[in-house]
Amino acid sequence: MRVQIMTDMEGVSGIIAWDQVSGGKPMYEEGRRLYTEEINAAIRGAAAAGATEIVVVDCHGAGGAWTFNSLVPDLLDPRCEWVAGHTWSHYTDTLEAGCDAVLLVGMHAKAGTADGVLSHTISTVLWRHLWFNGQAVGEVGVNAAACGYYNAPVLLVTGDEAVCRESTELLGEGLTTVAVKKGLSRYAARHIPPERARQMIEDGAKHALSDLSAVPPYRLHAPTTITFEVGSPENLDTFRGRPGVTLDPPYTVRSVGDDWLAAWNQIWHW
Ligand SMILES: [Zn+2]
Repeated sequence: MRVQIMTDMEGVSGIIAWDQVSGGKPMYEEGRRLYTEEINAAIRGAAAAGATEIVVVDCHGAGGAWTFNSLVPDLLDPRCEWVAGHTWSHYTDTLEAGCDAVLLVGMHAKAGTADGVLSHTISTVLWRHLWFNGQAVGEVGVNAAACGYYNAPVLLVTGDEAVCRESTELLGEGLTTVAVKKGLSRYAARHIPPERARQMIEDGAKHALSDLSAVPPYRLHAPTTITFEVGSPENLDTFRGRPGVTLDPPYTVRSVGDDWLAAWNQIWHW
């Protein structure tokens, strides 16, 4: 069984502040340990469920040289291999090889979610709301669509209660979710302490992988329309003149492609 674990940092137990997820800040060093250990918990669960290949993809943009490079290597469970430094959503080797399941660990809710800890969609300033074929999505939706394009299902989402709710609405009741904290605002949470949270994630990963057909792959109808709002009118300039992309000032960008990947590649940088 080949399993890919895609990870983000904002949804980890103990994390409520940008300083904990931003490279170079003193609090980041603690944050990345908490992050790595939740990933280890998912690896333990996957291994217990019979995974024979486990690939972790760091999807957290921590800034500078820490972007997609936040794991603490010598803490990582030796049963995995991990991808660092690769542009988000463009690592597809595991998916192209045939991936049985994807686990999303440490996720956060989409922009505009009142009880979503550190909620945002892609960028806190450049992007706001995002829709795939008219359906509002956040980063869980992007990850699920990228995996679904290759027929890989997302079976587990961990993070705060808000992202668990959002993910179940998007992917269905067959999804296993593990909420490690409850957002009280964007910057406050009632947490489950890491030791217990990790056990819950381990159990959740093992349970999720016990039925590989519990959640169908998230596949968008073709042609696919991706619509999003930028944070400020001048951000539209980034997308001006691209094939398949139309602008609807002051905030809206629309990309239409033959399938999800084509529409996504028209707007997402390499
Ligand atoms: Zn992140």
